Amino acid sequence: MTSLLIDRIGLLVTNDPWTGAGPLGILRNAAVLAENGRIAWVGPSGEAPEADERVDADGACVLPGFVDSHSHLVFAGDRAAEFAARMRGEEYSAGGIASTVAATRSASDVVLTANAERLVAEARASGTTTIEVKSGYGLTVEDEERSLRIAASVTRETTFLGAHVVPAEYRDDPDEYAKLVAGPMLDACAPHARWADVFVERGAFDADAAEAILRAAAARGLGLRVHANQLGPGPGVQLAVELGAASADHCTYVSARDLTALSSSETVATLLPAAEFSTRAPYPDARRMLDAGVTVALASDCNPGSSYTTNMPFCIALAVREMGMTCEEAVWAATAGGARALRRSDVGWLTKGSKADLTILAAPSYLHLAYRPGTPLIREVISGGERDGRRGAE
Ligand SMILES: [Zn+2]
Repeated sequence: MTSLLIDRIGLLVTNDPWTGAGPLGILRNAAVLAENGRIAWVGPSGEAPEADERVDADGACVLPGFVDSHSHLVFAGDRAAEFAARMRGEEYSAGGIASTVAATRSASDVVLTANAERLVAEARASGTTTIEVKSGYGLTVEDEERSLRIAASVTRETTFLGAHVVPAEYRDDPDEYAKLVAGPMLDACAPHARWADVFVERGAFDADAAEAILRAAAARGLGLRVHANQLGPGPGVQLAVELGAASADHCTYVSARDLTALSSSETVATLLPAAEFSTRAPYPDARRMLDAGVTVALASDCNPGSSYTTNMPFCIALAVREMGMTCEEAVWAATAGGARALRRSDVGWLTKGSKADLTILAAPSYLHLAYRPGTPLIREVISGGERDGRRGAE
């Protein structure tokens, strides 16, 4: 049995309103004991039990590790030139994803794995202890299968996204591609995937194709997620709710009917403000969603085209500055909200029984995450009760 005590915490975010004050369950002058990877005790500093090892937080803020419930980390190449052109005002071309697909298909397993590991390590350095990773840049049976195998080597939250876009070779017959996704591709990928996702958008997959793919995935025991209503109004949110998806992601263009559907369901609205930032697009109206009673998560959407960041504090700062969220709502959405979006009850909070995944800030309060944007505020990341984290973010 190994135990680790984090003592002299100035401000502890537990996300458990029964343990501490307010929706973030705040405790002051607190300590946390991790034992065998789990939180074994939370209480006042000075009353903590003995432990094998002690970390002195020295009055800093401690919060649950970030739960990034949406990323695309299995790819090769980057698209910096495309970003620069977009910022110069050149029109966004849909050829972008195709260039990543070509680079990914021609990359070796070693290159793809090293890139995914590098990005997971980068995410961890900014406080992320759980990360979901999608396939979606292979778009053949073999390339999607190996993308998921590689994703599974860096996280347990793996998502099959064969229905990302219709690849060039099926441009004239998108229905045939949708059949491939729902059939042989799903067969090959399901053993490595926990989730399935579909990009429901004009130019990607329509509601009928998406429903067929998602139902086939559900029949194989995969949980469901949907890229919904990113570039314009559409059927994605309704479909996600109807099929009991864990999450509808993006939700930039939602109707009153969409909000009602989300608020009366278990489907989380996962907002990805770094994507709007990087594409100079309008942000989703998080305030309107929260006021309608929708559960909101924040995630990075890390991908080489529209959001090349793994940094959850940056997403929190955007959510507060640009989307009308309070600091408390944004911190909750990046931790407990992400856990809801992944249907995980063991992460996203810090109280007895939860996984010992936590971040010690180089700051006295979580408020600094939005108040001091772009500043390295992560002092130390602990996952599964381990100080140096053997495998990065799981
Ligand atoms: Zn995405």
